[in-house]
Amino acid sequence: KTLLEVRGLHANVNGIEILKGVDLTVKSGEVHAIMGLNGSGKSTFAKILAGHPAYEVTAGTIIFNDQNLFDLEPEERARAGVFLAFQYPIEIPGVANNQFLRLAYNTVQSQHGKEELDPLEFDDFVREKMKLLEMSPDFLDRSVNEGFSGGEKKRNEILQMALLEPKLAILDETDSGLDIDALRIVANGVNQLTNKDNATILVTHYQRLLDYIVPDYVHVMEAGRIIKTSGKELAKELEAHGYDWINTDDRGNT
Ligand code: ADP
Ligand code: MG
Ligand code: MG
Repeated sequence: KTLLEVRGLHANVNGIEILKGVDLTVKSGEVHAIMGLNGSGKSTFAKILAGHPAYEVTAGTIIFNDQNLFDLEPEERARAGVFLAFQYPIEIPGVANNQFLRLAYNTVQSQHGKEELDPLEFDDFVREKMKLLEMSPDFLDRSVNEGFSGGEKKRNEILQMALLEPKLAILDETDSGLDIDALRIVANGVNQLTNKDNATILVTHYQRLLDYIVPDYVHVMEAGRIIKTSGKELAKELEAHGYDWINTDDRGNT
């Protein structure tokens, strides 16, 4: 089933065109990697999927799970199953992580007409998920992301993802700043959460993460467009030869 269909997406930030015709099709069960140099528009694309207000879409369509994504407010997108793990996760001092996670979880549950969990029930549920991610239960009592190390923030994002069970998870640079153990744990988490009914878009500058999460497709973004799409071997080729190696024929006339 086609989960996400992006056609001719153009978008501006502060009046400057950043995305210049992005096309992407993602089916259920697939993992897609979007690679590309800094400034190519990867994060802009991820934020537009999540509904970030700073970006003005000027042309194109996005169909998500048979719905026009642009008809949905950011919160509605989250409830519909679009999950964006931020490149720089926010800190929320004074709100314990378990409160924050339970609120997020119950909001989605109630939207789907499902039972909300009280603190004790949620505690059991979240601890199970944390075992999967090899996370210490100490995490639950700390303020959201406050004083978390880079690796802890990333693991906490994966925990949110494990709780919310999104249809489409978008991980933007989830690998940056992770040591090899944290990278492995995050990758294991993503791999365990991937199934035939959901899909993952990994935005990454480096191919390192792709040693642990094997994508079905690798796309290269350049100057606001996807200029090349291939299988997992493309990531290795980019690692070995750099982005300049891509044939200029792939670049069209930009
Ligand atoms: P990537 O994630 O591939 O590094 P980004 O999407 O972050 O690329 O950025 C693409 C381009 O858009 C860059 O030139 C960046 O400076 C510009 N850009 C992104 N967000 C903003 C913003 N809020 N205001 C101004 N320029 C922006
Ligand atoms: Mg960047
Ligand atoms: Mg980015």
